[in-house]
Amino acid sequence: MKILIAADMEGITGVTAWAHVMPENPEYARYRRLMTGDINAAIQGTFESGADEVVVTDGHHTGGNILIEELDPRARLNTGNVSPFSMVQGIDSSVDGVFFVGYHARAGTPDAILDHTWSSRCVTNLWLNDLLVGETGLNAAVCGHFGVPVLMVSGDQAVGTEALDLLGKIEVAVVKHATGRMSAECLPPGVSQTKICEAAARAVSRLRTGEVPPALRLPAPVQVALEFKSTEMAEQAGILPGTRRTEGRRLEFSAPDMPTAYRLIRAAIVIARAL
Ligand SMILES: [Zn+2]
Repeated sequence: MKILIAADMEGITGVTAWAHVMPENPEYARYRRLMTGDINAAIQGTFESGADEVVVTDGHHTGGNILIEELDPRARLNTGNVSPFSMVQGIDSSVDGVFFVGYHARAGTPDAILDHTWSSRCVTNLWLNDLLVGETGLNAAVCGHFGVPVLMVSGDQAVGTEALDLLGKIEVAVVKHATGRMSAECLPPGVSQTKICEAAARAVSRLRTGEVPPALRLPAPVQVALEFKSTEMAEQAGILPGTRRTEGRRLEFSAPDMPTAYRLIRAAIVIARAL
C-alpha cells in the first residue's frame, strides 16, 4: 500500500499568520519545524497501520519547507519547484490514497486561517465544472483523474468542513479552531500531532477494508472558470490561447482532462501574478 502525503503550510499546527509561512520572516524557521513534525506524525500513523510506502510532497511556496534532516527516514520527499504535478507531485495510478496535511480553506471562507485559492493576491474564485473549489477540491480532482481517493485532511475546522462537504466522510484532524482569518485557538504539537497520527492510521485501516469515499473524478472535458481579483489580471492571463474572457475579472476555458486543466490554471495564475 502506497500513500502520498501532500503537504501545505497554512494548516500546520500553530500557524495563524502569513509571517509564519513566508521564508523571509524570522518566525518561519519555527513553523517549518512544526510542519515537519505534523508530516512525521502522519507518516508514523501510516506505517503503524501497515502501509508499505510513503511519499511526501512539499506543496507550499517553492516547495522547500520541510526539513529533510528531520524527516522520518521511512518516507521519500518531493521538494523544489516547478514539478509537473506541483502540490500533488508523485500522483499516479500506483498511489492507493492521498493525505492532505496542513491544508487551508478556499478563498472567501469566513473564520478560516489564511483562506485562499492558490494565490491570495490573484484569485477570488475557481470553478471546475461549476463546482466551486479551493486547493482541496482542485488537488483532489487531479488525484481523482488517476482514480486515487483523498483519505485524510489536517488543518483548521474550516478546511475540515470543506473537505467533508466535497469528498464525503474522510478522516479529519483539526489542529486549530479559527476564530478569524489570522486568529485561532490552537492545539500544541504534543496534542495535534497525536490527532494527525491517529487520523492517518484510521485512514489506512479504512482503505484496507474498502470503507473510504470514492475518488473525486470529474467528467471530461473539464470546464474551468477562474475569477481574478482585478480586471487587469484577467486581461493579462487572457493571453493564454483557448481562454475566453466572459466577465471583466473572469476567464473560462475547457480542458480535455484534469491534469491539463491543472496546468492551464497554474499557467494563467503565473501570468496574472507577473503584473
Ligand atoms: Zn501554502
